[in-house]
Amino acid sequence: MTESQQAFNTRAIHAGQEFDPTTGAVVPPIYQTSTFVQDGIGGFRGGYEYARSGNPTRSSLETLIASLESGTHGIAFSSGLAAEDAILRSTLASGDHIVLGNDVYGGTHRLINRLHVPTGVELTTVEMSDSDAVRAALRPTTKVLWVETPSNPLMKITDIAELVEIGHAAGVTVVVDNTFASPALQQPLLLGADVVVHSTTKYIGGHSDVLGGAVVTSDDELAEKVRFVQFAAGAVLAPFEAWLTVRGIKTLAVRMERHSSNALAVAQHFAEHPAIERVYYPGLESHPGHRIAATQMSGFGGMLSVSLRDGEGAARRLAESTKLFQLAESLGGVESLIGYPSEMTHASVRGTPLEVAPNIVRISVGIEDVADLIADLESALPRV
Ligand SMILES: *Cc1c(COP(=O)(O)O)cnc(C)c1O
Repeated sequence: MTESQQAFNTRAIHAGQEFDPTTGAVVPPIYQTSTFVQDGIGGFRGGYEYARSGNPTRSSLETLIASLESGTHGIAFSSGLAAEDAILRSTLASGDHIVLGNDVYGGTHRLINRLHVPTGVELTTVEMSDSDAVRAALRPTTKVLWVETPSNPLMKITDIAELVEIGHAAGVTVVVDNTFASPALQQPLLLGADVVVHSTTKYIGGHSDVLGGAVVTSDDELAEKVRFVQFAAGAVLAPFEAWLTVRGIKTLAVRMERHSSNALAVAQHFAEHPAIERVYYPGLESHPGHRIAATQMSGFGGMLSVSLRDGEGAARRLAESTKLFQLAESLGGVESLIGYPSEMTHASVRGTPLEVAPNIVRISVGIEDVADLIADLESALPRV
């Protein structure tokens, strides 16, 4: 059986993870080195020369993540935004146009709007779940369609295959930020997307102890450009971070199952709560994207948001009153977190079309006991 025929759970443990040939160590070591001895000038052992251009521990993660996303090239960076910047630099030049979902991660909007727009790139934000609006936003100069599904923080779902069809008809590169779903639940390249980008800081690392990002694609020419940015600009993932990320990935599938079942239970419980105006979770049948999510995802993930009936004050009290759910930026770790997007993750998009309502609280449901999680949220909500 070749590696690519093995199922996801098997690849998550074995792809890129051959035992160490010199000692037999089952876990490949951390190659904590910046440079590599040459056997005569240009005589590289295993192709390694200097750790910015390549390091075996980073290579092992890059092979693994490419395999999990069903792509041929994985390219690892020091953060999700560094990975995004590399794909943007590889696809856009002055005068080119990018179409971005109107509720993508705030930092993605900031990166494009503040660093790429000033170099002459043109940006349009659009409601991605409205395919007519997406078609209308495309121009002859459009080079990239950037999709995030489920999106952040409202968990909007967009039909990846449909957007790929629209994008490819216009000759546009379709990039999917797959951070919220992870490859355990959704594989955009199999739905036709050209590029997947990740903040591996979140579910892929999974333990809130390492920052990182990755680009995955099967397009050789594009991969070469992204690799050049990785090498030339140098925002590479360090060996220890790569090793920690690999360690996290081994449990990705089982974690995602538990994140999904816990989040569904929390969503169902609070959908009926009198203090809650609305629960945003694609696993609820009432969610407008539920049907699409059920076809393009194999689980609904661990992220949900709620809006509070009593507005901003109630939302702030909830975010500041839970005990198990710790008030912090970020998501996707085994421990539950709670956040107030309009002043935390999405502070950078206030005053833009991506602004988040002040009565929204975002929850990253961890893999603790779900009854304890529900009790913690209950105790932080007013008894009505
Ligand atoms: C966190 C996040 C990013 C940015 O990743 P960093 O690792 O923080 O640089 C990008 N996209 C999404 C969806 C994220 O949640």
